[in-house]
Amino acid sequence: MTTYSIAVIPGDGIGNEVVPEAQRVLEAASRIGGFSFDWTHYDWSCERFAKTGAMMPADGLQQIRHKDAIFLGAVGFPGVPDHVSLWGLLIPIRRSFHQYVNLRPVKLLAGVESPLKGREAGSIDFYVVRENNEGEYSSIGGRLYEGLEDELVMQQSIFTRRGCDRVMRYAFELAKGRKQHVTSATKSNGISHTMPYWDERFAAISKEYPGFTTDQFHIDILTAHFVRNPDWFDVVVASNLFGDILSDLGPAVVGSIGIAPGGNINPEKDYPSMFEPVHGSAPDIAGKGVANPIGQIWSGAMMLRHLGEEATAAAIEKAIEDVLARRDSLTRDLGGTAGTRELTDAIIGALPSVA
Ligand code: ATP
Ligand code: MG
Repeated sequence: MTTYSIAVIPGDGIGNEVVPEAQRVLEAASRIGGFSFDWTHYDWSCERFAKTGAMMPADGLQQIRHKDAIFLGAVGFPGVPDHVSLWGLLIPIRRSFHQYVNLRPVKLLAGVESPLKGREAGSIDFYVVRENNEGEYSSIGGRLYEGLEDELVMQQSIFTRRGCDRVMRYAFELAKGRKQHVTSATKSNGISHTMPYWDERFAAISKEYPGFTTDQFHIDILTAHFVRNPDWFDVVVASNLFGDILSDLGPAVVGSIGIAPGGNINPEKDYPSMFEPVHGSAPDIAGKGVANPIGQIWSGAMMLRHLGEEATAAAIEKAIEDVLARRDSLTRDLGGTAGTRELTDAIIGALPSVA
């Protein structure tokens, strides 16, 4: 029997509530695929930072580099600035383990009220593929003549051929099993060096996939289409900054922040990938047992798909969809009265039974 070795980092706030619940679902579902888990728990968090001055130990990356995957809750703590959790944990993991794809599904599910009116469940179903390692989020730059009237600030972006090509190929490979349609986010009318290059690489990679349809939109109008015409998309590929925006906007237009999942993926699988919900630590509801566990559970399903356990991943997703559609065990953010545990129990109960 295959055993998957998973690094579990619940993090802060509701991460500590939804991660153990998601683990219960994954354990229950593992009998479908006939595999097991070996969980190792790490207390890396902003709370740890507040106590010790570090999000994780100095050899933290060494401790988890041979794991099959990383299952993360959320990091964030009132009083600890976001750059601490970013630079003290998330960025070192994403970069060191070559997690150059940030993947988020955007799917309108029955039973979830979307801010978009008159859309049928299933009519919106696409992925945002964000470049996760380079682009606009470089730390290269500086400030000159500080305090003077001609003070100026510069920040550079980095777009490498390797970096563009690999994330674009990932998007096309993902579209292969879908509608074979890839959309690129650009801004080559205003950004005159990097974005024309991005477009050039997109055209080059498109040629490797005959039979696929492609289009590209400037980021400004693309955000409008996410709201007005979300049914146009199948796989959307974007640079780090544009992808950051689109991968928050996409889940927002199809419903609650509590249900949206995500993955930081190393497609070559030479280092572990990391799966985490879109939501944060939600200090306002932490410790009350009311957090929606679906974002975490769905992230677990994405983790299983990455590990090659497609049937089990699909079974968990179907259980989530069934429970949402039934609407009898939902948490408060979805208009129900159930707690974290009751909603989790309902999802476990909706899994297929195995003889
Ligand atoms: P962080 O600093 O960790 O990002 P945050 O409070 O800024 O935390 P989120 O945690 O994403 O950001 O929370 C935004 C809002 O959504 C909060 O009001 C929170 O209570 C709500 N929320 C987030 N996740 C959930 C969830 N799983 N279930 C219910 N409500 C949630
Ligand atoms: Mg936040």
